[in-house]
Amino acid sequence: MARTIHIIGAGLAGLSAGVRLATPHNRVIVHEATAFAGGRCRSYHDASVGMTIDNGNHLLLSGNRAALDFLRKIGSERRLIGPTAAEFPFLDLKNRARWTLRFDDGRLPLWIFDSKRRVPGTRALDYLSVARLLWASPDKTVGETIAGKGRLYSGLIEPLLLAALNIDPPQGSAKLAAAVIRETLAAGGRACRPLIARDGLAPTLIEPALDYLRGRGAEIRLEHQLRGMRFAAQRVEALDFGDETVTLGDMDAVILAVPPYAAASLVAGLTVPNEFRAIVNAHFRIEPPAGQPPILGVLNGTTQWIFTFPGRLSVTVSAGDALLDAPREQLARTIWAEVAQAATLPAAPLPPWQIVRERRATFAATVEQDRRRPGAGTAWRNLLLAGDWTDTGLPATIEGAIRSGNRAAELVSEQ
Ligand SMILES: Cc1cc2nc3c(=O)[nH]c(=O)nc-3n(C[C@H](O)[C@H](O)[C@H](O)COP(=O)(O)OP(=O)(O)OC[C@H]3O[C@@H](n4cnc5c(N)ncnc54)[C@H](O)[C@@H]3O)c2cc1C
Repeated sequence: MARTIHIIGAGLAGLSAGVRLATPHNRVIVHEATAFAGGRCRSYHDASVGMTIDNGNHLLLSGNRAALDFLRKIGSERRLIGPTAAEFPFLDLKNRARWTLRFDDGRLPLWIFDSKRRVPGTRALDYLSVARLLWASPDKTVGETIAGKGRLYSGLIEPLLLAALNIDPPQGSAKLAAAVIRETLAAGGRACRPLIARDGLAPTLIEPALDYLRGRGAEIRLEHQLRGMRFAAQRVEALDFGDETVTLGDMDAVILAVPPYAAASLVAGLTVPNEFRAIVNAHFRIEPPAGQPPILGVLNGTTQWIFTFPGRLSVTVSAGDALLDAPREQLARTIWAEVAQAATLPAAPLPPWQIVRERRATFAATVEQDRRRPGAGTAWRNLLLAGDWTDTGLPATIEGAIRSGNRAAELVSEQ
């Protein structure tokens, strides 16, 4: 008889676990508290801009192997768009300088010896400092490991780590920074091609996963929030959904793929990350000018990255906590002035806009918070944890969320 796997939370961690487990041997049921799947990675129709947008721009890299495997499996890999080579155009708003970082495909970083492909004003030797991060002690911060100043820092390390760790880099864990560098810069350009879900996060990552799951007999129950669990000595006995209690059979399992604060409220005594950082996104409804790159790094402004989508330019500000209380229109105007300069649209008036502020976008990637991340297993043999905040070794990213879902699914399969 097929056993039932209850997956709590339809974010990418829950969906990736479901995609792994939806086989004829398992009955998979995904329970999601809200009315939509996707969690922090979602699309919605926005009345202000009059179009469907994503809650936030999400960048994947060609080296995100678990994410790409997931997309391949759900038949959606082709929906990711990016340049054929690892190229990152940048603009410095202070002096209007523009340049493009161009990595070599292979692991050998020949680009650092080419002044036209490296950060302007740097020397090849400067790049050795990146190696210090790779061997840093897990107890150290980035700030204790490398100097937080200089052209290499401001032109490459800061934008890379700010985006990947979602924290002011000197405060970030050197261990998590090293994981990012190991899987990107140190892996060569083939791992660093930027990839964007041009048609939106939901049509690329979420809806195809739901179709895949439903096509294999899985059930997706939206607006079905887990309220509590009944624990026995070694296993979870029942799930309480308020209007319904589900008793678990001996072979059944639960994968709790909810954010850390939700997991802590459901499992007494669970230590989880409890400090967060925000991400702010600004969306502008405007036809992008010809030649606008898919993604542009911006230095010395509020804007950090500008993403180009059909009919829209969107800006990401990571570790954007200082902007959480800023008046929305003022913020939109400040960011628009930078976008107009970057996209050479100097006289363009403020187009229809939206500001989306995700307060708890990711856990704070500090040494102390990283220590609070639990593994996938728990004291109860049929209860597994998943989520970008579990101990994946990576910062909170799509790749980490999917790897955590895969790991929880593996443990369920081994049982
Ligand atoms: C604005 C923004 C920009 C980002 N940019 C990037 C990026 O560029 N690249 C990148 O790799 N990552 C990025 N991330 C991070 C990425 O979105 C997350 O790492 C990933 O989506 C986390 O997935 P998850 O499944 O672990 O958690 P979540 O997406 O939080 O999913 C958890 C789900 O559980 C549900 N839930 C909660 N409680 C219950 C309950 N009691 N019962 C049932 N369901 C429940 C929630 O509603 C939610 O759907 C960004 C995040 C944000 C917010």
